[in-house]
Amino acid sequence: MDCIFCKIADGSIPSGKVYEDDLILCFKDINPQAEVHALVIPKQHIASVNGITAENSDTVKHIFEKIPEIAKLLGVNDYRVISNCGEGAGQTVMHLHFHILSGSNLGERLV
Ligand code: 5GP
Ligand code: ZN
Repeated sequence: MDCIFCKIADGSIPSGKVYEDDLILCFKDINPQAEVHALVIPKQHIASVNGITAENSDTVKHIFEKIPEIAKLLGVNDYRVISNCGEGAGQTVMHLHFHILSGSNLGERLV
């Protein structure tokens, strides 16, 4: 499967790694949209939030348990977590990922 985030997860494409363990990886977004912009992904390929099931949700739980620690590694305490699900919502990479965004340019509005 030609999935860029699977290649980042297996190390065949380099990334600005922030955090890694057996299940998940966090790396800096290549095109940051805020002063701090990182992505957290499961190493296992899940296409989007719509692909979350009882079989793989332990990894998603693990992502959210690790986000506070990852935020500390990023040096932020206030941040936004976003996952675009589907092309119509702005998803361009079809491998589940959670954006962590932080910085003075974040407005109060979500859209
Ligand atoms: P989406 O639009 O699917 O919610 O978010 C995909 C994100 O992945 C975008 O913010 C984009 O900049 C980032 N991205 C796409 N390709 C790469 C890559 O090869 N490396 C890194 N670090 N980020 C990427
Ligand atoms: Zn993938």
